[in-house]
Amino acid sequence: MDTFKVPQISTGDILREQRRRHTELGRLADECMQRGDLVPDNLVNRMIAERLQDSDCGLGYVLDGFPRTLAQANWLDATLAEGKITLPVVAIQIQVSHDELLRRITGRRVCPRGHIYNVYTKPSTVFGICDLDGDPLEQRNDDSESVFEQRMKTFHEQTAPVIDHYCRLGRFCEVDGASPVTVVTEAIHFGLQRFRNESQVHGSI
Ligand code: AMP
Repeated sequence: MDTFKVPQISTGDILREQRRRHTELGRLADECMQRGDLVPDNLVNRMIAERLQDSDCGLGYVLDGFPRTLAQANWLDATLAEGKITLPVVAIQIQVSHDELLRRITGRRVCPRGHIYNVYTKPSTVFGICDLDGDPLEQRNDDSESVFEQRMKTFHEQTAPVIDHYCRLGRFCEVDGASPVTVVTEAIHFGLQRFRNESQVHGSI
């Protein structure tokens, strides 16, 4: 989040990094990810707790893909309250239809350095090769249609209650994700401004 000068912390990225490094957490996460299930709350919470200690988190952060369960949300709220961190915490949901999400996810290709393409909407110039560093592009092993359906089921069962939780607290912002990236970005900024009357912004997507 360049505009707010705060780091974007993606739990999925951290778990994939653990997998690349062949750690015990990475091995366990890989099993869950391949099934389209969530990694156990205690492991993900501990991972976030460690990351939030880093000095770049002092002015706030964007948590990408966290919290994904009510237990994670309750843990986050309690941890922030314990640390006497000034609110606002704002949960942002980028809303995309099932069919569009399926197209985005099955069309996604990534290079090992994290540059992201899409075979339908943002193809690389040379098929299968990253424009920026020439590395071969890969498909994430959880971006298949069958794992996608399980991920959606997991979302409806375990993540939808998180939305109700932040709605009830008046700290929820929904953005239409069908628009181009620049329009979605604007909408997120606009939504955050409403909550930005305090010095720290902690967002969650
Ligand atoms: P993502 O990169 O956000 O699409 O996440 C990929 C996968 O990582 C998910 O399908 C889960 O298996 C796992 N994961 C990411 N974030 C979380 C989280 N907050 N809690 C549990 N599992 C997670």
